[in-house]
Amino acid sequence: MATVVSNLLPEVDTFLEKSLQRPLVGGKEAEASDGSTFETHDPGSGDILATVPNFTAKDVDAAVAAAQKAFDKSGWATMAPNERGVLLHRLADAVEKRIPIIGQIEALDAGKLEPHAQGDVANFVATIRYFAEMAQHIARRNALAVKGHEAWTMRHPWGPCGFIFPWNFPFLLIGWGISPALAAGNSVVIKPAEDTPLSAIYLSHLAKEVGIPDGVINVVTGTGEKTGAAVSQHKGFKRMGFTGSPEVGRMVGEACGKNLIPVKLELGGKGAAVVFEDVDVCDTAAKLVGAITFHSGQVCCDATRWLVHKNVYNDFVSECSKLIKQVNVGYQMDGTTQMGPVVNEKQRKRVLSYLEKGVKEGAKMIVQGGPAEVSGKTGHYVKPALMEGTLENVAAKEEIFGPVAYLAKFDSEDQAIAMVNSTDYGLANSVWSTDLNRCSRVAEQMRAGNSWINAHNLFPHGVPYGGIGKSGLGGGVNSPETLFDYWRSVSCVRPL
Ligand code: NAD
Repeated sequence: MATVVSNLLPEVDTFLEKSLQRPLVGGKEAEASDGSTFETHDPGSGDILATVPNFTAKDVDAAVAAAQKAFDKSGWATMAPNERGVLLHRLADAVEKRIPIIGQIEALDAGKLEPHAQGDVANFVATIRYFAEMAQHIARRNALAVKGHEAWTMRHPWGPCGFIFPWNFPFLLIGWGISPALAAGNSVVIKPAEDTPLSAIYLSHLAKEVGIPDGVINVVTGTGEKTGAAVSQHKGFKRMGFTGSPEVGRMVGEACGKNLIPVKLELGGKGAAVVFEDVDVCDTAAKLVGAITFHSGQVCCDATRWLVHKNVYNDFVSECSKLIKQVNVGYQMDGTTQMGPVVNEKQRKRVLSYLEKGVKEGAKMIVQGGPAEVSGKTGHYVKPALMEGTLENVAAKEEIFGPVAYLAKFDSEDQAIAMVNSTDYGLANSVWSTDLNRCSRVAEQMRAGNSWINAHNLFPHGVPYGGIGKSGLGGGVNSPETLFDYWRSVSCVRPL
């Protein structure tokens, strides 16, 4: 490790000291068969954090074979749900005990504020427990009332499931993805993003430590074009889960389509917040500014289009401008920082280019945004920005994935709904009003997987979360339905 951060936990220091971070495949530390590696960096300082294997297609073959072997032979797929539950709770306990350690690794690797990273790890724990519990209480065999026949259905796990994850919530999203698959008795192969592979590697070691059979959880690190493509094209998976951009999601979907492998795609968004004239302007502004600056706006379901009733528009804009200018941009490991870096230079340039393109197409800058300097750090920093204009503007249409909110005015409920729905994305929107009847009415008409009322970014376990259109397909995550997705159904019938 070349990073210089004071106050690292000793366990994190030890973890980062390894010259090569090897993930576990089939219960054994693995390297790329061609010896290739890549480096992962601290986005806040640019320092190298670790060197990681860049797995080849042959290595992905080995991981799928290990997952198949574990599925067929380790007893994981056939063990009683409560026994599997015990092992999954053990994994949850082990992760929970190490929230500060994994949180620090994640904060360094993803550029997250440490408390936020710890929150992600705690969410992982809650997700595993949620599905481990639920799986124990679902009948796997169901009798069917069919005239003249004895008939029933039986639920079986599918086999090895592949998962490809992005860099914005690396550990939390692994939890959302693999927990239902594991609880249902499947084995998994995880491909973390190349920007943030460390927490997945750490997890693969913990899984072995707590006694999850070898090969049930495998991690293949590498770049998207090499390792990611090999995972998405592999014919040995029985299901695939992809979380990331619509562009790559389309490629993964195509590859799975070719192989007739069912796939879940959790993709990007261009969410709206509809702010009516009866809100507490200061409170709503504080919450939306909090949402757009949380993890530097690198949140798929963020409210990036703020649609505000004309009667409170000016007050709302001036409150938001005041708040956004006060946000302290800094190094993620510094306790006074409110907004850290974006994940890499490519992402920083992407954010800056949208500011430029938006203005070129006629948007007005309310709060300038642009590059940010953080003293003593050469990381990837931007200032949060507020823009306004028509919704035809490129900055209002495309996912920027940075701390940029785009404001527009409306004067009727119908107009607001039409504005929300004028996008190809369909992930999450919110409506803000003290009139709860109006909130419900609008929430039900906003075209997306998720509508939130007087809040943005709500993920209680049990509420399905997923997207439609350019935001995804295949059923979403985090609800009882998700668990059922990881069982295949077989019907058995005989004439009486
Ligand atoms: P990305 O699509 O660039 O990468 C995601 C993953 O795909 C990475 O692991 C990457 O290595 C891999 N990949 C890249 N090229 C590949 C290829 N050719 N074949 C197979 N895999 C490949 O996305 P990102 O930049 O890491 O993440 C940001 C995107 O993710 C945004 O669009 C965001 O909205 C979306 N996202 C969606 C959700 C959700 O729940 N809907 C959650 C988080 C992020």
